[in-house]
Amino acid sequence: MLYGALAAGGTKMICAVGDESGQILDQLLIPTTTPEETMPQVIEYFKARVDPSLPEDEKIKALGIACFGPVDVRKNAKTYGNILHTPKIPWRNYPMVQAMKDALGDIPIGFDTDVNGALLGEATWGAAKGLEDAVYVTIGKGIGMGAIVSGNPVHGMLHPEVGHIRMSVIPGDEYQGSCPSHGACFEGLASGQAILGRWGKQAHELLDKPEVWDLEAKYIAQALNSIIMTLSPQKIILGGGVMNNKKLFPLIRQYLLEYINEYIVTKELRNMSSYVTPAALNGNEGVMGAIKLAEMAALDAE
Ligand code: ZN
Repeated sequence: MLYGALAAGGTKMICAVGDESGQILDQLLIPTTTPEETMPQVIEYFKARVDPSLPEDEKIKALGIACFGPVDVRKNAKTYGNILHTPKIPWRNYPMVQAMKDALGDIPIGFDTDVNGALLGEATWGAAKGLEDAVYVTIGKGIGMGAIVSGNPVHGMLHPEVGHIRMSVIPGDEYQGSCPSHGACFEGLASGQAILGRWGKQAHELLDKPEVWDLEAKYIAQALNSIIMTLSPQKIILGGGVMNNKKLFPLIRQYLLEYINEYIVTKELRNMSSYVTPAALNGNEGVMGAIKLAEMAALDAE
């Protein structure tokens, strides 16, 4: 069975075709500029995969979209499937699901946040395979979290925005924070943007500066501590550009244990090196998650 997968990111859209084993059979990268420029190319890619002249087994049976946000994931809402108040102004209120529906006819469409998508990929085929409760935190230019609780992606009122939880500023850190809404929230203190703002250089240009990574690890551990205390995940997967510095992992684990201070004692926390772990799907977790979203939408429609 073939599925269409759209990993709609803030800098690029990955359009792909995959199957139920998560294998990516074809993909095309399209830069995310404006809806007027980007979406006709995205639509053309998927339209060719539902063309009536294709043999049945070459057509995609459903489409999964894992989209940058904030997005409206409330199925009964009038604005379901829309991108909401994003800082990427041309994309504000863009009706992502409706646009694809209009283009592709009545194939089932699954829709979720990019981070829930990535976590679904990891929970189906990667680092959180077989787990009912897990989170995926991406730390890049911004910070976001996908969460699965009791096997279901968490949406709640809209969807969690862990990047914007309040934080205790580490003594000695005088940076005011990069978040336009909150200043020194998690994203404001620990995103790639915050690293650039505080140190004047990009994360990858600071690899030889231990003080950068020590502070970064403290902030990430602080946020993970809050996530553990509220959602009690069985695994925490960390991704995003900032986490490309693998030296961060041992530091984060060390501070996390310090902050938890044995208040919670579980086998997962005793095995910290596999509890806080990198994504296992080599950057394909977003696309593979979108394949899974498509499969779930197809099953729902049966
Ligand atoms: Zn914020």
